[in-house]
Amino acid sequence: MSAGPGGAAAPGGSGDADRAPSAGGRSGATPASSDVGDRGGLPSPRCVLVLGGTAEARELASLLHARPDLRVVTSLAGRVAAPRALPGEVRVGGFGGTDQLAAWVVEHDVAVVVDATHPFAAGISRNAAEACGAAGVPLVALRRPGWTAGPGDDWHDATDLADAARRVAGLGRRVLLAIGRQEVGAFAGVDDAWFLVRAIETPDGPLPPRHELLLDRGPYALQDERELLAEHRIDLVVTKDSGGDATRAKLDAARERGVPVLVVRRPPAPEGPGIEVVDAAPAAAAAVAAAVMR
Ligand code: NAP
Repeated sequence: MSAGPGGAAAPGGSGDADRAPSAGGRSGATPASSDVGDRGGLPSPRCVLVLGGTAEARELASLLHARPDLRVVTSLAGRVAAPRALPGEVRVGGFGGTDQLAAWVVEHDVAVVVDATHPFAAGISRNAAEACGAAGVPLVALRRPGWTAGPGDDWHDATDLADAARRVAGLGRRVLLAIGRQEVGAFAGVDDAWFLVRAIETPDGPLPPRHELLLDRGPYALQDERELLAEHRIDLVVTKDSGGDATRAKLDAARERGVPVLVVRRPPAPEGPGIEVVDAAPAAAAAVAAAVMR
């Protein structure tokens, strides 16, 4: 699903995600405190754009939506046909690149942007950093910590998905491929292993020649992961270093069974003076609150 710079309201949204939050754009910005609108003398809510697609983004939208002084718009790429419902407003589809994202931020008088996208969504994170810099709008980057190996873990690092695909045959023959659906094609040329491909929806592009597709959505419980590895006689787990609790049970189940894990390391994230980095939704909510006060 895709939409132009204005985007489209998604199921679960209020349907008016693309309505400007207050009269005029940022270029002619009226301080929100003097913008009384029709709220009986109360200032208009400040607009917060949450770049989403993660559990943290949903948690953050919920925290911010509870505040009457904020208007929350969550932006989704539109990769999943039936996204979970979100509090606040929702827009769906790419912006059309950095310049269009900057224009959207200005046009909608956005006070602060939160990049709460997945750690492997490097493109939108880069665009957000550049667009916020260009628009002069603060950016809060919600970066969940990566996973770290503990005692008993047998983890192997891959620099990216192509590297992981090259290394599969040296580590296992029956592989749980738990990397989402977008980049399964990186493993399409691996013909000396069998793959249990787990994803929310059918993957884009080609699949490995020997595979079974398991359509499922986390969070996953440890007992279920134990049973999955046993039932399919999995001898290698391939995962991105996504971090977080929702999908980490496979790592614990692998350790218990002595199964190695091939961990695809994260792409670099943008840095810069205008970017405040936090590691969880409550910290992002606090950073947003501080930013709108400035
Ligand atoms: P990406 O490669 O960084 O982004 C590619 C393009 O998709 C962006 O340039 C942007 O298009 C659009 N886009 C991405 N996220 C968007 C958002 N939240 N709102 C509006 N447009 C967005 O991203 P990706 O890896 O394809 O991931 C897409 C979405 O899925 C992200 O929002 C991410 O949070 C979520 N997700 C990704 C993964 C993963 O493993 N990559 C896992 C779980 C969830 P324009 O340039 O046209 O603006």
